[in-house]
Amino acid sequence: MKLKIRTGFGYDVHQLQEGLDFWLGGIKIPHTHGALGHSDADVLIHVICDALLGAANMRDIGFHFSDKDPKYKGIDSKILLKEVIQLLTNEGYEIGNIDSTICLQEPKVNPHIPTMKTCLAEVMGIPEEDISIKATTTEHLGFVGKKEGVAAFATVLIQKQ
Ligand SMILES: [Zn+2]
Repeated sequence: MKLKIRTGFGYDVHQLQEGLDFWLGGIKIPHTHGALGHSDADVLIHVICDALLGAANMRDIGFHFSDKDPKYKGIDSKILLKEVIQLLTNEGYEIGNIDSTICLQEPKVNPHIPTMKTCLAEVMGIPEEDISIKATTTEHLGFVGKKEGVAAFATVLIQKQ
């Protein structure tokens, strides 16, 4: 039987607002501002979900979890990620690896990356070594640089026998 390997890509942006909790990579980051959204607005989890769904050709996160649905108001994005993993598992897919980048001017993301990896590895049931999380500022340019928002990108590889 042929080994099926597929790649997927995800991109997402959330506005930053003062006084909100800042959920990123499954954990709460201490900061004056947080991301605004219908769910907990965890931009890293959202791009991982989108990349996984894209790799399996299963539409996107908004298709499965509508931002009009009150059921998902303020929901922990880790629950959405678990559901995405289940959708892929049902189709016989397993994750090869995930690579991601968070674009944020401040606060510094790097000190939180090990905790994010541990958290996401547990949620997805995969080894930490299969999850890469990187962070960059945008050198004070654009909406990220002006601290108006946070963006993230992810690529994934999935496979099935
Ligand atoms: Zn999002």
